[in-house]
This record gives sequence, structure tokens and C-alpha cells, in this order.
Amino acid sequence: MNKKMIITIDGPAGAGKSTVSKMLAKRLGYIYLDTGSLYRALAYKALKDKIVLDDDSALDSLCSNISIVLKKIDGQMKVYVDGEDVGDKIRTEEIGLTASKISAFAIVRQRLLQLQREAGAQGGIVTEGRDMGSVVFPHADYKFYLDADIEERIKRRHKELFGKGNTSELQSIQKDMLVRDKQDSKREIAPLRPTSSSIIIDSTKLSVPEVIEKIIQQMSSK
Ligand code: C5P
Repeated sequence: MNKKMIITIDGPAGAGKSTVSKMLAKRLGYIYLDTGSLYRALAYKALKDKIVLDDDSALDSLCSNISIVLKKIDGQMKVYVDGEDVGDKIRTEEIGLTASKISAFAIVRQRLLQLQREAGAQGGIVTEGRDMGSVVFPHADYKFYLDADIEERIKRRHKELFGKGNTSELQSIQKDMLVRDKQDSKREIAPLRPTSSSIIIDSTKLSVPEVIEKIIQQMSSK
């Protein structure tokens, strides 16, 4: 595996994309790019500036006036919004839901497209999101689609949020996740779905190292 490849991992919230992508990137010596954090960055500013979320012209000016910069730090791309390292601040359910809402708008997707492509231009990247294999990197070397049963995804998200000191109830996580699943997969532009060349992995009963082994096996067998 000498070539610096582009590996995409798409899938719904809670399927394990972030942990798997991060560890896979580390193992391959690649950069890790979490594109959800870019949509979350826009959502963060939209909420901060109290932008009306379904108003085209408000979203247009949000997209024109925001500075989003990706900086490579310790093998991963960190997001800076108007010079601020937004880090863990964007990892809330409220921001996830807002990101999902605004990500259905063409202007928002267009604003982030170039940034994502530039980050992957040199290859040597593992990138995760919803449309990595279908829209952003249609010529990626390997496209994976990571899925898991809804109950398992809720449990994982609960554990993740709990670890960050957030005490959201399982029921409210379930509600938010169902809304996001529906919004992300039913939208007209770049809906969440595997491409014809995606390798689908169901992670419901697999540990993170087991998912990574499956990915590596697939990459060595092709
Ligand atoms: O991956 P994460 O849950 O952080 O993404 C937040 C939201 O951003 C998703 O629910 C989805 O609506 C949007 N998103 C997207 N396309 C991507 C990555 C994220 O539409 N490539």
C-alpha cells in the first residue's frame, strides 16, 4: 500500500465512523478528516448569530461571512471558525441536529465542497461523513459504508455524550437520531446512501478493532 490513497467512510450517526476512521488513519499513517465537524462549524455560527435556519438568504450570508479553516494537528484536521478552535463545543446534539437541518441546503454543501476536496487533494487521507464516496471523492480508492442497528447506535451515542459530561436521556438521543437519519437520507442533495462501489460493513456486533480488520482485509484483497 505505497500509494497515498483516499479512503472514504460514510454512514449514519452512531455507526462508529469517527472512532474507526481515526484509528484506521493512525494505522496507515494517514490524515483523518471528519467532515461532519465542518457542517457542525456552520451550525455553531448559525446558532451563535441566531440565523433563521430555513431562510436561503440568511444561510447565504452565513456562508459568505464565516471563515472556516482546517489545520493539520497530530494527524487530524482541526476546524477553526473565525479563528476559534471550536473543538468539543460543536459536539452537542443541538448542533448535530442544526447541522443536519442546514446541510440539506445547496448553498451550505457548496460552501464546504472545495474545502473538503482541498484537504484530500494529496491523498493519504481517511475521511468520514455522509457523501464522501458519492459526491466529494467519487474517485476514492476505497469507499466504505458503515452501518449499525438503531438501538446500538443510540447506546453508542449515549456513551459518547456521557463521557463528555452530557447527561442526555436515551429517549431524547433516540428522538434526535431518528430525525437526523430521516433528514440525512431523504434530502434531495447528497442524501446518505451507499454508492454502487461501496463496501458495506454492519458494525452492530463488531468491536472497533474488528471493523478495522474487516476494512484492512477488504483493502488487501483488492
Ligand atoms: O457526522 P456528524 O454527526 O458530526 O454530522 C453532523 C451532520 O452534518 C449530519 O447529521 C449531516 O446532516 C451533516 N453532514 C453531511 N455531510 C457530511 C457530513 C455531515 O450532510 N459529509
